[in-house]
Amino acid sequence: MNETAKLKSCPFCGGEAKIDQWDRDRKCVCCTQCHIYTQPYSEAEIAVEHWNRRATENPQPLALSELHEMEGEPVYVKCLTVPELSCWGHRDESSVTGHQGNFFDDDYGTVWQAYRTKPERSGK
Ligand SMILES: [Zn+2]
Repeated sequence: MNETAKLKSCPFCGGEAKIDQWDRDRKCVCCTQCHIYTQPYSEAEIAVEHWNRRATENPQPLALSELHEMEGEPVYVKCLTVPELSCWGHRDESSVTGHQGNFFDDDYGTVWQAYRTKPERSGK
């Protein structure tokens, strides 16, 4: 049975997801592009279920090309390295200015991602 066929694309970057071995007994689902992953589960099917649920709940981040057309508009910045820094900011030519500092295009996708609306947290 091919479990990968049931996997939705990554909720954060839209990349391709795959099932990965977490350790000897457990599996997780991870993104081949941004390497975000689920918790480890004993059954691959459970990991897939959790992954797909998150993929449905979270909107897709904006592409950098979309951001370039949003100068002056508010965007929600999700900081991937320090989640506490996630905030609303304003788009300018080559970065988004939030109240904690600037997020630059060079780091887009690795340090931060932008959304038109604030992604909902599951379970809240
Ligand atoms: Zn991803």
